[in-house]
Amino acid sequence: MFEEYKKHDVAVYGGYLSDVSKLMQCTSGGIATAMSEYMIKQGGYVAGVVYSDDFYSAEYILTNKISDIDRLKGSKYIECDKKNIYSDVKRLLDSGEKVLFFGLPCVVAALYKFIGTRNKNLITCELVCHGPTSAQIHKDYVSYLEDKYSSKVIDFSVRRKKDFWTPGYLYAKFENGQTFEKPFYETEYGYGFTVFGRERCYDCKFKGNNRQGDIMIGDFWGAVDTDEYWNRCGVSVIFAETTTGDAFITSIPGISIFSTTFEKAVKHNLMVIKSKVKHNNREKFSKLLSKKGLIYASKHSLPFKTQAIKYASTIIPDKIRPMAKKLYFAIKKKA
Ligand SMILES: Cc1cc2nc3c(=O)[nH]c(=O)nc-3n(C[C@H](O)[C@H](O)[C@H](O)COP(=O)(O)OP(=O)(O)OC[C@H]3O[C@@H](n4cnc5c(N)ncnc54)[C@H](O)[C@@H]3O)c2cc1C
Ligand code: SF4
Repeated sequence: MFEEYKKHDVAVYGGYLSDVSKLMQCTSGGIATAMSEYMIKQGGYVAGVVYSDDFYSAEYILTNKISDIDRLKGSKYIECDKKNIYSDVKRLLDSGEKVLFFGLPCVVAALYKFIGTRNKNLITCELVCHGPTSAQIHKDYVSYLEDKYSSKVIDFSVRRKKDFWTPGYLYAKFENGQTFEKPFYETEYGYGFTVFGRERCYDCKFKGNNRQGDIMIGDFWGAVDTDEYWNRCGVSVIFAETTTGDAFITSIPGISIFSTTFEKAVKHNLMVIKSKVKHNNREKFSKLLSKKGLIYASKHSLPFKTQAIKYASTIIPDKIRPMAKKLYFAIKKKA
């Protein structure tokens, strides 16, 4: 299985940050956070993505401050503002500094194109990628929550771990002290993320053997509690694509990593080798999104049956909702 791709990587691992309280703040196994801490403690810089101060968008920063690592934690599922990141990284490399660069695979490829060559002081880490969604979806949802709670958002995540790694929750904290929390895929944001990808992501050129980083990390979907790299608080899959990447990953303190096979790593995460498929509702959703915004578009682009179920779930009291859900799935299974 996957024979044509196996030679690309030097090694494949599963693993996680050993400190559980830190691990709970990260998206999957927290390996990105461990890498960033290690690079900064060695005197280097990290380029990664944070939310803007008002939480309406996401953007690149280049930092050598440990205090910035908290902002870097967590996946930002939207197109981000790249600012001058390519030239800023090049400037630091030219002056002999070390840089660890996080990016979606096409962004890592664009960085190499800009710099023109590999550089011994640059380590690149790609994220397994099924593509970000539109920045408008994020902005519309943050604005919607701010209206609903009559307060500004001061913290936000699309992958908050409530008890364990899954399910991921959308979480927002407001200036007035209130909080909002809901399974991500039950929100309009989650629906928009599922339905609306960028055209180029349906035919991505940076999959399989065209990955260009030193390392690639992602969620280790398919990991189970009998795997030695299992951790119910989150597991990362790690592809060491170059010997430089492998040397870096295996020297990081405070992480537990275990060798695994390419098959195990990719079987439940085909985004490493394949592009995602376009959603049937994309075009309808896209038109409504640009004219009427996220909340309207997600309500009106759903098939009628799903709309009816969604509506029913809003009028069923909280107390009996789990029972109603069970009953619905039992009937569906029988039908
Ligand atoms: C748009 C998108 C799609 C993804 N799709 C998949 C997928 O299909 N399958 C899968 O296994 N994993 C996917 N991932 C990766 C996964 O969500 C985690 O980001 C990854 O496993 C790292 O987790 P961590 O716990 O090590 O990171 P943390 O310790 O939480 O740190 C997060 C790191 O991600 C970086 N980051 C966050 N958002 C972005 C962004 N938009 N662009 C570049 N860097 C960013 C930060 O700079 C930081 O270094 C996706 C990520 C993104 C942003
Ligand atoms: S799917 Fe491909 S083109 Fe789309 S963001 Fe990811 S790496 Fe870039």
